[in-house]
Amino acid sequence: MGITAIRGFNDILPSEIGKWQFVEKTAREVFEGFGFSEIRIPILERTELFARGIGEATDIVEKEMYTFIDKGGSSLTLRPEATASMARAYLEHQLYTFDPVAKLYCIGPMFRYERPQKGRYRQFYQIDAEVFGVGNPVVDAEVILMLIHFLGKVGLEKLELQINSLGCRDCRPRYREGLKNYLTKKSFQLCEDCQRRLQTNPLRIFDCKVQTCQEAIADAPRVTDFICAECQSHFGKVKEYLSVAGLNYVLNPKMVRGLDYYTRTAFEVVSYDLGAQNAVTGGGRYDNLFQEIGELDVPGIGFAIGMERLISLLPKDKKLEQQLHLFIATPGKGMDEKAYRLANQFHLEGIRAEFDYEGKSLKSQMRRADKLKARYVLILGEEELKKGRAVLRNMWNQSQEEIPIDNLIDVLKRKILNN
Ligand code: ATP
Ligand code: MG
Repeated sequence: MGITAIRGFNDILPSEIGKWQFVEKTAREVFEGFGFSEIRIPILERTELFARGIGEATDIVEKEMYTFIDKGGSSLTLRPEATASMARAYLEHQLYTFDPVAKLYCIGPMFRYERPQKGRYRQFYQIDAEVFGVGNPVVDAEVILMLIHFLGKVGLEKLELQINSLGCRDCRPRYREGLKNYLTKKSFQLCEDCQRRLQTNPLRIFDCKVQTCQEAIADAPRVTDFICAECQSHFGKVKEYLSVAGLNYVLNPKMVRGLDYYTRTAFEVVSYDLGAQNAVTGGGRYDNLFQEIGELDVPGIGFAIGMERLISLLPKDKKLEQQLHLFIATPGKGMDEKAYRLANQFHLEGIRAEFDYEGKSLKSQMRRADKLKARYVLILGEEELKKGRAVLRNMWNQSQEEIPIDNLIDVLKRKILNN
């Protein structure tokens, strides 16, 4: 084979694209219904944005970033996530001067240097939604409700919403210390990575997949036992508002999320159909991010959905392929100009029509129509044309009728576009 794509970088082929378009369309409809607007941000940013925003001691910044020096000598990074860039854009364009509350969403590719495997790629797509400027716990519940509503709308089942509180600037350091002390006594059980994490970011040990680390942390102190009164009250209200909205959740005190900027509410939606890479989406509140990357103190909350994982969970029976409406078959020799002219008229009316470019036999044209799953075949037979008529075959039930050539467009529009 000649040149192939880079490992971990996927093509999304036409046979799959219907699912992607369906998911994106549903996201836009649902999010815009909740008052969110789309924002498009660059794929490349200054490395500093992610190093400061996401945090130096996170998996992403420590080892997963695609970073390079450009020809001008600047260190640039392919965005590994969207939140930091969206926050940068909010500050840079002073979106808060228009309204302090910004509800934004963004759909596009992210890049992380991870070991490619099923459900884990180096270029993958995310749907992100963020609310900037509201600290009230009601918005935490609102964002989660929107997420669950969206996942239901695309047809996902067997999902579990897990929530936790990670505390704030004031109480989290106390928890870190508590956890560090606890794990230091068990450090002989920890893998090499977690020995290091113990010093830099002990919370991340919760995410380690190594068995002995999991055992070491099984009975560790829980963050929710350490959080301050304000964080407790915030968490209590989030739970209350979730219940008011009729949402079920599971408390998961071990869910810490990989990014440093999270404070208070953290959540994940996991699917029992996904196996090891089971998080479809994760998110949380990040009331410190803005101070890390700018001067303003703005609260924020949001989530990111992994599109590949989401798409792998779509119901199998959902018909999302683009259907060919009509194949125009021509029994004559050579490319038929009538077919060309008709096809153009159909296309201008929104009818997806295809015809034969190569002067193939009628039989082979019918085979192609079948393969393309055309719903109708219009056969321009000479005998019928002389009478001003053409044969229309319904490929779904194999019935056939003759229709007058003069009002082909009208007849087909009625048949195809109305149902
Ligand atoms: P994980 O624990 O699976 O590494 P994460 O915490 O790194 O996930 P986030 O940064 O929260 O993930 O990103 C949100 C979502 O993006 C994840 O829930 C997942 O669906 C998806 N995602 C993250 N990394 C990848 C990847 N390398 N390939 C495909 N999807 C990914
Ligand atoms: Mg990760």
